[in-house]
Amino acid sequence: MEERLLAIREAGFNTFLLKADDVFLDMLTDSGVNAMTVEQLAGMVSAQDAYAGSNTYEELARAVEEVLGFKYTLPVHQGRAAEHLIARTLVRQGSFVVTNFHFTTTRAHVELAGGVLVELPIPEALDASSEHPFKGNMDTVRLEEFLARNHERTAFVRVEALANLLGGQPVSMENIKLVKEICERYGVPLVIDGSMIDWNSYFVKERELGSWPLGKIIKEFASHADVFYMSARKAGSVRGGLLATNNRELYEKIAVLLPVFEGFLSYGGMSVKEIAALAMGLRQLTEEELIGSEIELIRYGVRELDKAGVPVVKPPGGLGIHVDALKFLENVPRNRYPAGALTAAFYIASGIRGMERGAISNDRLPDGREEYPALELMRLAFPRKTYLRSHVEYLVDRLVWLYENRDVVKGLEWVYEPPVLRFFLGRLRDVGNWSQTLADKYRREFGER
Ligand SMILES: *Cc1c(COP(=O)(O)O)cnc(C)c1O
Repeated sequence: MEERLLAIREAGFNTFLLKADDVFLDMLTDSGVNAMTVEQLAGMVSAQDAYAGSNTYEELARAVEEVLGFKYTLPVHQGRAAEHLIARTLVRQGSFVVTNFHFTTTRAHVELAGGVLVELPIPEALDASSEHPFKGNMDTVRLEEFLARNHERTAFVRVEALANLLGGQPVSMENIKLVKEICERYGVPLVIDGSMIDWNSYFVKERELGSWPLGKIIKEFASHADVFYMSARKAGSVRGGLLATNNRELYEKIAVLLPVFEGFLSYGGMSVKEIAALAMGLRQLTEEELIGSEIELIRYGVRELDKAGVPVVKPPGGLGIHVDALKFLENVPRNRYPAGALTAAFYIASGIRGMERGAISNDRLPDGREEYPALELMRLAFPRKTYLRSHVEYLVDRLVWLYENRDVVKGLEWVYEPPVLRFFLGRLRDVGNWSQTLADKYRREFGER
């Protein structure tokens, strides 16, 4: 306990700044920490290391074409690199980018390119307790209205398949089809962020198109994109990313930027070993027995927490268990960052490292005011092929304990606040030294461990 207390203080109550050695279960993210399959590992051994024209790249391009249906593939070093190149190519000063919901790095790249991000989620998405089966859907009525007025100023529409910051909530096939129709009517390109296309497809199969094989769902979903990109660190289970399209003109515009910012066309900043593993990872997206075991674990955890009265985002989505910090810490005001405080407190109480996904993850407005997001969440991510049911049982046990002792947790205030993506490097302190009180309470029940 003493070690965890010291570690979180040293980390400025920011779980990004904890050392992995000080963490028991690392549920910070699924990014780049998924276990690879044996087939992926085997592929890495036989990758062809060439600066240009490696046949490993050809294998990736074939996998992209067969699984996702795109003729042109550009590897990039990770998802945000794709976002950078897309924004640089399509966004002008004052352009709109319309999305079902933002992701942190997407917003940063759109804004750095001079654009304005407009979010059009369905209203149920912002209600943590709504049981809508596709809370990641875009509000197509508002999209139609928006494009009718602003299509000339709109650079692109972006749909994130499994909306990360909404709590890993899926987008339906019906919705993406409708969004595409509207985009076509107004001549606006549709960009799909497929970083978590695996889990999205699992939900589409479960809730919408039960008789379709996963492979067919993935290909049909991706077919609506003018540009498709993904952080391969998520569904791909490798360290990398890719951008794919069937539009030759767009491909050529983006391709000239690749050697400037990423690397040559056939590696784009990735190692060929990871490219080989990604090619295999893409093919394995269609294997029904591989995809979705985390969703079942998340569902189990959410059900147990819900039974104990702990406020969680429902229905359980992909990516992780999302705890509603506004309800969990009702007495902590928003300018004391309930989700940040909860995440730090949960680390103290469990050694589990989660991530704040609330106000701290949202930078201030240009005039310095806070813009509080509708959802203030602690996310406990489930990297693919990593955790078991017994881990979830431990998580539930400690989170229920913290819920019973939640009055101790006050809130956080800034010590060092970076201007952009402040959640990565920012440092805070606990208002009124509550971490000590919490640790003392914990010791009385569980001892020093
Ligand atoms: C992680 C993620 C990104 C950014 O990808 P990185 O590989 O971390 O740069 C973009 N979109 C979504 C939905 C993500 O989950």
